[in-house]
Amino acid sequence: MSEKIKIHSDKYQETAFDRAKLISWWSQDVVSSGKILVAGAGATGNETLKNLALMGFGNIFICDMDEISVSNLSRTVLFDVNDVGKLKAEVAAQRVKAMSNNPDCKVDYFSGDIVNGLGHGVFRRFDVILGCLDNILTRLNVNRRCCLFQKPYIDAGISELGLTLSVHHYPESSCYECGTNTESIARERKIRYSCDVFKQRAIREKHAATVLISAAIVSALQVQEAVKILHAQNNIALEVPAEFGKKYYYQGTNHTFERFSVPSKSNCPAHFSINSEDIIETELSSRNTLHEALEFLREKFGFECVIDTYPDSFFVTEARCINCGRKITVNKPMFEIFSDEFYCDECRGAGMSGYTPEYNYVNLFSGDMTEKHLLDYTLEQIGIPPLHVITVREKNNSENLKYIELTADLKRVLPNIYGLS
Ligand SMILES: [Zn+2]
Ligand SMILES: [Zn+2]
Repeated sequence: MSEKIKIHSDKYQETAFDRAKLISWWSQDVVSSGKILVAGAGATGNETLKNLALMGFGNIFICDMDEISVSNLSRTVLFDVNDVGKLKAEVAAQRVKAMSNNPDCKVDYFSGDIVNGLGHGVFRRFDVILGCLDNILTRLNVNRRCCLFQKPYIDAGISELGLTLSVHHYPESSCYECGTNTESIARERKIRYSCDVFKQRAIREKHAATVLISAAIVSALQVQEAVKILHAQNNIALEVPAEFGKKYYYQGTNHTFERFSVPSKSNCPAHFSINSEDIIETELSSRNTLHEALEFLREKFGFECVIDTYPDSFFVTEARCINCGRKITVNKPMFEIFSDEFYCDECRGAGMSGYTPEYNYVNLFSGDMTEKHLLDYTLEQIGIPPLHVITVREKNNSENLKYIELTADLKRVLPNIYGLS
C-alpha cells in the first residue's frame, strides 16, 4: 500500500470547486459570472436550482407563480413541511442563497405569472434560460422571448420515469416552438381558456404523474448543457460543445435513450428578433401613467407617439352581457379577464355554454385616443409589465418604430443581480 502524499503549501487555498476545476476546460469564473433564468420552481426547478447553487453559479433568477403544497414535498429538495402555503419562488430563492457554495451568489425571484407579469427586458439580461415548466403555453411564451433576444433556451420536461430535454438557440438552430405540434397546443388552450381568449375560472388540470427521479436526471442534463453553453459564450473551446436544435429523450422504464434533431420550421411564428442596439433604455417604469409615458416619449423624440401593445396584450374597455346584451364596463387587460365576467350583475349565474363574447379592446394608446380615461392608468394597469420593452410608433408615420425599455424597473425586478439594492 502506498502512502498518500500530502503537499502543504501556504499559497494553496482549498475551495468547494477544486474537483470541478480538474476538468481541463472548466472555468469557475465562467460559472460564477453567468446569468441564469430559471422558469419554474417545481420538481424540475428544485433539482436545477440545487445543481446551480452547489456548483457555484453566481446570478440566478427564479420565477414561479405557485405556492408550495404538501404533494410537492417528495420532489422538492429546497422545501420542507414548514414551507407549505408559502411562495415557491421566494422560498427557493432563500434556500438557493443559503445552499450556495459561492459567497457572491446573487439571487432574485419573481412570484407571479411569467407570461404577463414580467417584461421582455428581463430575458435580454440573461445568458441562458432554463425552462422547468409544467405546461406548453408558458414554454411557448418563454421560448418566444428567448427568440426575441436570441438567447439559448433549454427546456426540461418529465413524465413518470421519462424525460425530455431540448436545447435551442434561434436563429442558429430551430426554436422550441419548431418542435411542438399544433394539436398538443390546441389541447392545452382548450383546458385553460374558453373560446381561446378568456381564462377559465377553475382549470380542470390533470396533474402529471411524476417522481423525483426523472426530475433529477433531466435537471442534471439541463445544467450540464448550460455549463457548456456558458463556456462557449466565453470563447472556451470544448471538445464537444452543446448542440442546438437537439432533443434528448430518456425512458427510465426500459433505458431507451434517443436523440433527435429538431428541424427549423420556416413559418414558425416565434422566429422574430429585436437587435439589441435598437432597444432604447429609458427612465420610464411600468408604474408611470400612460399620460406620463406619452409625454416623456414626445419630449424624447420630438413627435407624438403611439404605444402599440400588439401582440403582447390587449386592453378590454367594454363588453356586452352574453345573456341580455347590456353593456358592461370592463377596463382590464385581456389576460386578467375570466370567461364568467361577460355577464352583467343581473345575469351572473346564468348558464354559460357555446357563446362568443362581444367586446371592445384597445392596443394602440395615444394622447388623443377616444378612451381618454385610460391616460390616468399606469402602464401596468393597461397590461404592460415591469421592465418591458414596448413598441412605440410615430403617430403620423407608423413605420417609424422604436423599442423602448422601461429600464427604471430594473432595480425593482432584479435588485440583487444588478447590484442596485
Ligand atoms: Zn421556431
Ligand atoms: Zn345581462
